[in-house]
Amino acid sequence: MDYTLIVDDMTSKDVQRIRDASCKIIYAGQNRDALKPLLLFIEQMRAAASLDLGGMFAPNQRFPEYAIKTLEFHRDSNECTCNLYTGKYDGFDPDEELKANNIEFVSRSDDKYSLIARCKKCNELYDVDMRWGHYIFHDWKRRPK
Ligand SMILES: [Zn+2]
Repeated sequence: MDYTLIVDDMTSKDVQRIRDASCKIIYAGQNRDALKPLLLFIEQMRAAASLDLGGMFAPNQRFPEYAIKTLEFHRDSNECTCNLYTGKYDGFDPDEELKANNIEFVSRSDDKYSLIARCKKCNELYDVDMRWGHYIFHDWKRRPK
């Protein structure tokens, strides 16, 4: 990850660049070390991303908002990073998280629309359901113990 480039994008006031950089941060959410250098720039990014980014069905604003939330989580919390899955961002694709080696699948429904995933760091279990609205999203819920 190129930090200076990400900070440049996040403070660019260009919707597409902010969105792309935000997604990079969000998807690196499980990797504390990768995000550490960005923690110094949280306030700068927040100030720049407070502009109206538009977006009809899924407001683009949710990207920088959750990117900044992700960074704040790493700054403020020592809890397991899988807590980020149940935050306000609903775009975490379990297949991508599996590929990144962050989780494993315990079971998956035949139609593949719902599954149980386990965090590989802390063993917490999650119910993940795929849903359709104006776009596909994934609903992660911590499984009751
Ligand atoms: Zn975890």
